[in-house]
Amino acid sequence: MDSIGVLMACPMNAYLEQELEKRFRLFRFWQVPQKPQFLKEHAASIRAVVGSSVAGADAELIEALPRLEIVSSFSVGLDKIDLGKCREKGIRVTNTPDVLTEDVADLAIGLCLAVLRRICASDKYVRSGKWKKGDFRLTTKFTGKTVGIIGLGRIGTAIAKRAEAFNCPISYNSRTEKPDCKYKYYPSVVELASNCHILIVACPLTPETRHIINREVIDALGPKGVLINIGRGPHVDEPELVSALVEGRLGGAGLDVYEHEPEVPEELFGLENVVLLPHVGSGTVETRNAMADLVLGNLEAHFTNKPLLTPVV
Ligand code: NAP
Repeated sequence: MDSIGVLMACPMNAYLEQELEKRFRLFRFWQVPQKPQFLKEHAASIRAVVGSSVAGADAELIEALPRLEIVSSFSVGLDKIDLGKCREKGIRVTNTPDVLTEDVADLAIGLCLAVLRRICASDKYVRSGKWKKGDFRLTTKFTGKTVGIIGLGRIGTAIAKRAEAFNCPISYNSRTEKPDCKYKYYPSVVELASNCHILIVACPLTPETRHIINREVIDALGPKGVLINIGRGPHVDEPELVSALVEGRLGGAGLDVYEHEPEVPEELFGLENVVLLPHVGSGTVETRNAMADLVLGNLEAHFTNKPLLTPVV
């Protein structure tokens, strides 16, 4: 398979890069200075694109690669891939579901605890020597708080399971009510936000879910409410979130993703009720290796005419 050209869209994982290099003719797109010229030169040999949550295959790239057969994403989210274009051209698409579910769900609960119990602020308190001058102030209990989840899929369900262990009543929103689901369903996000203390975003980014967290939802969540976003940054109207936090109209936020990441609004840096993570939902060695193995397995299956492991298209 070493004559098959594979285009890696952006840096994502050293092990994956190393293994791709062993098996295929690997092109690192981010290192290419003159992209249009590179594409003209190498388009005829590139049959696969490996993307991630940072960069994938948009319509322009797909059009520039006439021999493209498969886009294999090192992510479960498909928002960086033009799926319509792939379908139209018969290009296969794969992602990395399930293997990352537990890590992302763990982190969502970690963010709930970190925001409500002010874990980061109290750590800072100890390190700065302030404890000697007095105890850290009281915080807010997590156990028993009502949790609302937008997107009760693999990750949303894993979050619900964990939150149940904290005796949190669970409710959710999705496009359709899940059959035989014991959690309360709200067809409207505003209604869900009005009826929960902690609102967690765990749905895919699509045109319909862009800014699913807007001013109305933030106001419904209110000054005691907490927003947790482990989905994608553009789910949230970020200027609205920032002003609500700065003005105290929202109780707190735990964010793993941002609208223009790695740019993070500096207004949030001084807020103790906000916990900021650098998009590390699936960021453990174990999970990233498992994701890499799925990307490799899907490419190998495709190029040896076997069924794909995790096909999307
Ligand atoms: P999944 O199993 O496909 O679940 C997605 C859920 O979202 C489904 O239950 C779906 O239900 C719901 N949904 C779809 N469109 C919706 C809409 N318009 N409004 C409300 N709910 C909607 O996906 P997953 O594996 O749980 O992953 C979810 C997302 O998490 C990914 O797409 C990715 O963006 C994000 N993620 C982030 C990280 C990170 O590092 N922070 C890591 C992994 C994944 P219905 O079809 O019934 O609407």
